[in-house]
Amino acid sequence: MKSNSNSSLFDLAGHTALITGSSRGIGFALAQGLAEAGAKVILNSRQPEVVDAAVSRLTALGLQVEGAAFDVADEAAVEAAFAGFDQRAIAIDILINNAGIQHRQPMVDLALADWHRVINTNLTAAFIVGRAAARRMIARQSGGKIINIGSLTSEAARATVAPYTVAKGGIKMLSRAMAAEWAQFNIQANSIGPGYILTDMNEALVNNPTFDAWVKSSNPAQRWGRPEELVGTAIYLASNASSYVNGQIIYVDGGWLSVL
Ligand code: NDP
Repeated sequence: MKSNSNSSLFDLAGHTALITGSSRGIGFALAQGLAEAGAKVILNSRQPEVVDAAVSRLTALGLQVEGAAFDVADEAAVEAAFAGFDQRAIAIDILINNAGIQHRQPMVDLALADWHRVINTNLTAAFIVGRAAARRMIARQSGGKIINIGSLTSEAARATVAPYTVAKGGIKMLSRAMAAEWAQFNIQANSIGPGYILTDMNEALVNNPTFDAWVKSSNPAQRWGRPEELVGTAIYLASNASSYVNGQIIYVDGGWLSVL
């Protein structure tokens, strides 16, 4: 990514970010944060009307955003979306692979279709979208940033979420594979590993007193994280401040993984 003239290390003005799965939750907070840091942001999810509503919320704040609804796990849909960006001369130089789903079930009861659905959405899609973005970043010779959203399960397993754990472990290594091949083109690919964050994905867990107590007693911060607490790390990894940082995963987890 070329440096911006007369701007700070963390200024994203002049850059265009695609954030997958940004109609709500962590993706929406990252979209607002990157837009407030100066980027033009493209919001995404599978549901056009929900994306439109999210775009309206941020437009009302005076932010530069637009929507592109497509399924990140559908290769043809991803290619069509990027062809549309090309036609409109939209040059995405920041990609956040954030779209993700959860499926909780003991592994002995897990259907192969559910295994594939989670792996496809949480891991394979990051390859599909990352490949489409990187091809264009390389052709433009202007570098770029790819941020893949991992999890505490990029590092540690937990019962009943096997495909999610495997996908998020894969996300950590996908970022490193991207760095291995694309650092030479001035593309930095890194991961963020959020701890337990208050979003729709965790609604059932937040409302479960046993799980809620476990989160608060296991984490040295003694609380859940908020989506906006991931924004600073995302801006760092999306900006020139991280121009020589590649293949890393940064855990934003209140210190959870650092303690016994
Ligand atoms: P949410 O369920 O709140 O939001 C998920 C977003 O992804 C929605 O916008 C959803 O929209 C979209 N999405 C899901 N599948 C697809 C798809 N195939 N194509 C395009 N968009 C899709 O999740 P969170 O905000 O909690 O999680 C965001 C990311 O952060 C995920 O990768 C998750 O694994 C990760 N994470 C979350 C943690 C947490 O505690 N919340 C902790 C660690 C990691 P729609 O369904 O309308 O398509």
